[in-house]
Amino acid sequence: MTTTEERFWRSASPEGECLVWQGSRFWNNYGRFRVGGRSRIASRVAWEFARGLIPEGAHVLHRCDNPPCVNPEHLFLGSHADNMADMVAKGRQAQGELASGAVLTADDMAQARALRAGGSTYGEIAAQLGVSHACIYAALNGVTWRCLGEAPPLPQRAPSTASKTITSLFADGRGRSTAEVRRELGISKEVALYRLKHTPGIVHVRLGLWAPAASEAAS
Ligand SMILES: [Zn+2]
Repeated sequence: MTTTEERFWRSASPEGECLVWQGSRFWNNYGRFRVGGRSRIASRVAWEFARGLIPEGAHVLHRCDNPPCVNPEHLFLGSHADNMADMVAKGRQAQGELASGAVLTADDMAQARALRAGGSTYGEIAAQLGVSHACIYAALNGVTWRCLGEAPPLPQRAPSTASKTITSLFADGRGRSTAEVRRELGISKEVALYRLKHTPGIVHVRLGLWAPAASEAAS
């Protein structure tokens, strides 16, 4: 029987000095390893297998600046501040106004998501957390998550035939609510939101209501 650890290491292949994750990846190119029903960042799992538990709040950083690398020799532990400094040193920090995202913590993001789910606008959340609108928009929409070091696990991708239907339902200009589309297609909220987030030309206007980009100003 294959152990979880064997399954893990079999998913990586040597490329130069690095041991590169061959499985699926998070948006930010970090490897994604599914275990116990959830997605974990592969480099963190690699650290745990090779060196043991990661202290609470610690980040697993790459000396090789190669996010999908899971070679334990290339990994080191650091704080959130180290992670920020490391990214700046390697030129991976968010640019311009988005750079204010660097001050967001995991707690901030949990709060932001809760506020968003409760119907707050990006502007209201930004004001509450003391960051720019652009920062909170980007953070909540997966554009930049670099301030966190941990990518948000994405909901499962909708099957491709369903994706087209969902997308056309949202994009037909009627401003359907996610609830309507979900009822119509019998899909989960996660799948509906995932499609919306990944469909160009559709923007979030208000909680649960989506419309084409022309009405973007409402946010
Ligand atoms: Zn490496």
